[in-house]
Amino acid sequence: MGRLDGKVALISGGARGQGAEEGRLFAAEGATVVLADILDDVGHATAASIDRASYMHLDVRREGDWDAVVASIIERLGRLDVMVNNAAIDLERSLVETSLEEWNQVLAVNQTGVFLGTRTAARAMIAAGSGGSIINISSVAGLEGLKLHTAYGATKWALRGMTRTAAQELGKFGIRVNTVHPGIIETEFTAELKSFKDPATRAKLERGIALRRYGQTDDVAKLVLFLASDDAGYCTGQEYLVDGGIHR
Ligand code: NAD
Repeated sequence: MGRLDGKVALISGGARGQGAEEGRLFAAEGATVVLADILDDVGHATAASIDRASYMHLDVRREGDWDAVVASIIERLGRLDVMVNNAAIDLERSLVETSLEEWNQVLAVNQTGVFLGTRTAARAMIAAGSGGSIINISSVAGLEGLKLHTAYGATKWALRGMTRTAAQELGKFGIRVNTVHPGIIETEFTAELKSFKDPATRAKLERGIALRRYGQTDDVAKLVLFLASDDAGYCTGQEYLVDGGIHR
């Protein structure tokens, strides 16, 4: 018996990286999975490699995309039990060099996208009356100051407040809302950073992590699975780290 038998899960930014891994693990635990992203070719290929998964185009910045995707899930699959707001973009830029346009771009995806995703999923879950779990992917950068990440960090801190507030409002409907805070995880998101490309920088950084290694996508997916499942039935409004002990 799988831990998500009979449940339907929507994962934003699910074409690759952590979102795709969560899709694989959820499906292996019995869920029907919808991966949603703007990387359509990659997303279709990822979904094709997973049993009980499908792909839909979703730009998390667009209210109409959210309405269309969730309406189609309810029509096609009959329910929505789990929403993982995972899509995000990074911006490695000093505060004084960050333009207003860049700031707005990061906020549109990482914060407005999560607001729209949480609201649209919550409306569908309330209408169905069978509860649900919403998981918002933040970061260790949402718990501490990370140099060169003013815009990104601002959004990841914001998710904590949005999540705690939503949890208070949605608890009476049996809807749980939590944040997950990954440390440094090997994905295409991080592949271009100096800390990944330069072996000496990487070795130095890994020595600063209690478990002495960068994380892998399945490290995060296992925690997200726990929060998605009924095993976490009494967990809401909280922040969960999966960071190898990098945050002190
Ligand atoms: P990734 O870049 O592989 O995945 C992010 C996905 O989001 C991509 O598929 C991308 O196409 C999608 N996306 C971007 N803009 C979008 C939009 N407007 N609409 C829909 N989809 C969009 O990176 P990842 O490492 O898998 O990141 C997943 C989450 O984990 C993100 O929220 C990220 O901030 C967070 N995170 C990552 C790390 C890390 O070290 N990799 C650390 C902490 C937190």
